[in-house]
Amino acid sequence: MALIVQKYGGTSLGTPERIIAVAEKVMATRAKGHDVIVVVSAMSGETNRLSAFAHKVSNTPKERELDVLLSTGEQVTISLLSMALEDRGCPARSYTGAQVHILTNSAHTKARILEIDDQHLHTDLAQGLVLVIAGFQGIDVHKNITTLGRGGSDTTAVALAAALKADECQIYTDVDGVYTTDPRVVPTARRLDKICFEEMLEMASLGSKVLQIRAVEFASKYNVPLRVLSSFKEGKGTLIAAEEPMMEKVLISGIAFNRDEAKLTLLGVPDQPGIAYQILGHIADANIEVDMIIQNIGADDLTDFTFTVHRNDYKKALDILHHTATDLGVREIRGNDRIAKISLVGVGMRSHAGVASTMFKALADDGINILMISTSEIKISVVVDEKYLELGVRILHAAFNLEE
Ligand code: ASP
Ligand code: MG
Repeated sequence: MALIVQKYGGTSLGTPERIIAVAEKVMATRAKGHDVIVVVSAMSGETNRLSAFAHKVSNTPKERELDVLLSTGEQVTISLLSMALEDRGCPARSYTGAQVHILTNSAHTKARILEIDDQHLHTDLAQGLVLVIAGFQGIDVHKNITTLGRGGSDTTAVALAAALKADECQIYTDVDGVYTTDPRVVPTARRLDKICFEEMLEMASLGSKVLQIRAVEFASKYNVPLRVLSSFKEGKGTLIAAEEPMMEKVLISGIAFNRDEAKLTLLGVPDQPGIAYQILGHIADANIEVDMIIQNIGADDLTDFTFTVHRNDYKKALDILHHTATDLGVREIRGNDRIAKISLVGVGMRSHAGVASTMFKALADDGINILMISTSEIKISVVVDEKYLELGVRILHAAFNLEE
């Protein structure tokens, strides 16, 4: 017998029929002899609807009140699911975040979980109850309702699984797992049986938005095995767990990509201490996130400096550079906001040579020019013209034998 935490997202709970289907899935898990804690999101679209409502009555709704409002979506689904379970003979009890003392800090709309009262939950489980807990919400020390940031129910589920030392945290969603790459770009993309936390973090932050990144970080920190499954299709899904020696046998686990990148280059920057700081300090002050950074070897006391930002921040970053560049005596500023990034991800890279050369050869064979390269222990990224994004992903998917 195991303790399983199951989380169901908004699409899985969007209609009465779907709520009943979730109840049946929960009962099927119970029938195997497991204890089950269910974490739910609000019905799909509900959190957006509530938020839009708030902005109709106030131009600047207070975040404390937004949290009171937005957290109601999950109160609807916990009660409905509990009713559906009880009606089918499965004893269940719903709880809001505050009721099970999911203590958070006071950062309204983006609170962080500090502590969970698992004692109470263990007592209920021992009585044979299924516990249905509202995701996305908590309470601070002053008894204010807080929320964890959009998509926060994943984090609630992982935090509960960690606090209760659950055997597995299952995230039911509308996709049946994590794929080698986006199947809309590569129809032959394959579902992965297993991927490690580190790889998932790389895949997630690069656009394969299956799971909230924070939830994966949390799972990794507390070593909670996570499984992504479809609510609509039977299957084993994808297990996300700590790295095992076996995993290194696989060279590349997946290909992540990011469409919305832009790059900025400063030509003829003085090759002196403090220059990188002067350039990027202002960018950071403006809250612009920088991704890749490349500085060339200096010649004649001058060097070139390139970095990438999200495309939405391109104009702002360019403006800032135009201001700083004059002070620094930079020769020229160049920018390009029609670029994309493709990354190979895999822990197997650590123990295999030649991944980069295979990648570069595959791209070269199809005439795709690489604009920037960056590497880490488990990732190689290239920046290319955005028109080559789809082609590049497809070529690499084939070159590394990732298809079905
Ligand atoms: N209902 C919240 C949202 O839409 C939390 C969640 O779905 O995980 O962001
Ligand atoms: Mg969601």
